[in-house]
Amino acid sequence: MSLIVQKFGGTSVKDAQRIRNVAGIIAETYLQGNDVIVVLSAQGDTTDDLIAKAEEINPHASKREMDMLLSTGEQISVALCAMALESMGLPCVSLAAWQVGIQSTSVHSDARIKKIDSERIQSELDQHRIVIVTGFQGVDRNGDVTTLGRGGSDTSAVALAAAFRADLCQIYTDVDGVYTTDPRIVPNARKLEEITYDEMLELASQGAQVLHNRSVELAKKFRVNLEVVSSLERKPGTKVKEVTKVEKTNIAGVAKDTSIARVALIGLQHNPGVAFQVFDLLSKHNINVDVILQSIGREATKDITFTVHKKDLEEVEDILNEHKEALRFDHIEADEHIGKVSIVGVGLMSNCGVAAKMFEALYEAGINIQMINTSEIRVSVLLDEVDVSRAVKAIHAKFFDEI
Ligand code: ASP
Ligand code: MG
Repeated sequence: MSLIVQKFGGTSVKDAQRIRNVAGIIAETYLQGNDVIVVLSAQGDTTDDLIAKAEEINPHASKREMDMLLSTGEQISVALCAMALESMGLPCVSLAAWQVGIQSTSVHSDARIKKIDSERIQSELDQHRIVIVTGFQGVDRNGDVTTLGRGGSDTSAVALAAAFRADLCQIYTDVDGVYTTDPRIVPNARKLEEITYDEMLELASQGAQVLHNRSVELAKKFRVNLEVVSSLERKPGTKVKEVTKVEKTNIAGVAKDTSIARVALIGLQHNPGVAFQVFDLLSKHNINVDVILQSIGREATKDITFTVHKKDLEEVEDILNEHKEALRFDHIEADEHIGKVSIVGVGLMSNCGVAAKMFEALYEAGINIQMINTSEIRVSVLLDEVDVSRAVKAIHAKFFDEI
């Protein structure tokens, strides 16, 4: 007997028929003699619809109230799924995060799970019930509901798998695994049989939307056996693990991200402490900064350019302008129409020609690179947003069609 965590995304539970389908998968796993903890997302576009509802009433609603609203989506899913299992005569119980004791920080809309109480779930499992838990949410120390950031249900699932030392954590979705790139852009993208935590982490944080990046971080930290599988078709998915057995061609995949904006602070003083001041200020406002580039300016000044999420752009400009006197910059240049394309692969560490091959593909496609940024196993380029799809196609073809 094993303990298996099964997470189902929004499309997998979008209507009654899909919920019955999911209940079937859960039932099969349970009837094979396993303990099952299920984690669900909100149905279909529910979270987006709730955001739209809020905007009709107050576009500047507080994050606390947004969390109160958005967390209802997952509560609907778990109750409906429990009803489906009940109708099949299976013992089960649905639980919201506050009932379980999924304790999180208080950063509304972007909370982190700190600890999961085990008593309630363990006692349900001991009574041989299937436990169905709301994804995407936690409860802070004041007892307020928080949410974990868009796509956060994956993280709920992995955190539960880690807390209960599950034998397997399956992430069921509407695609059948992790691909070398987005198959909607490149129809001949390949499905990966397996991928390392590090590669998956880079791909997820660079815009591949299969898994929430924090879920992969957690999976790596706690060595959670992770698997991405389709809820609609019965076929093997992609395993995410420490090392992979497949012989390493150069890269695992190509990711794109068009949700970013670029901010350039022009004419900063060329003194020690300037970068610290800027990024300390942004981090105090919980703004995530990605690619950072400092360029040699003129005379006693320099420019610092960085990227942020598009949704944070307005706030970033406000914060910086508010502190213009202390930071002593000349002006801000912001660009929302940019995108990032990245290649990821553990093979990058030992193959120096890989980056050059990526740049060659862009050159052949006549695409201009604005900024370049690398990690041990990743190379990212910033481009005009209009060039992103073309860049993905060109790079994917270069790496995967020429083998
Ligand atoms: N329902 C949330 C969202 O749409 C969380 C999730 O689906 O993972 O972002
Ligand atoms: Mg998701």
